[in-house]
Amino acid sequence: MSVIMPIADPVKRQIAVQRKLMHKICMKCGAKNPISAVRCRKCGSKSLRLQNRELGAKK
Ligand SMILES: [Zn+2]
Repeated sequence: MSVIMPIADPVKRQIAVQRKLMHKICMKCGAKNPISAVRCRKCGSKSLRLQNRELGAKK
């Protein structure tokens, strides 16, 4: 009753978090692409970088 958690199952929660955080950002136009993307769906550039907020904590 004291803690409100939208998803109680830790495994499901981890998957949800990863899906939310893991994607690729186009370095050309900045569009978000799915993690499996090879090219930007917007401009077709191959210059995609991974975005992972957990790793971005240093900056
Ligand atoms: Zn792009």
